[in-house]
Amino acid sequence: MGKRKKAHVGPHKYQRILWKSRKVEGEPYYIFKCMLPGCTHFVPRELVIGNECECWRCGKTFIMTLPATYLKKPHCMSCTKGRPEDVSVDDVTANLDKILGGF
Ligand SMILES: [Zn+2]
Ligand SMILES: [Zn+2]
Repeated sequence: MGKRKKAHVGPHKYQRILWKSRKVEGEPYYIFKCMLPGCTHFVPRELVIGNECECWRCGKTFIMTLPATYLKKPHCMSCTKGRPEDVSVDDVTANLDKILGGF
């Protein structure tokens, strides 16, 4: 009651966007915005880590990691494994351990 209805069920589908109005000289400011229809949710890049995100490749839910924030359209670890040149799998695993251990 009185609570705003979520635009969709399940996790947000984040895309990295350059936030021009917050651009500092020499340092681009990125946000991650949900691209699902009707959803206006967004978070600064440093706060997206640990959030649930829908994979742009397979559509499954995964937890955002630091390497994933370097991708414009983040994808999950199993999709990352198919493209080893994207990010180091070791880095992803280390970050996931850190995040899961933090809970
Ligand atoms: Zn959303
Ligand atoms: Zn995936």
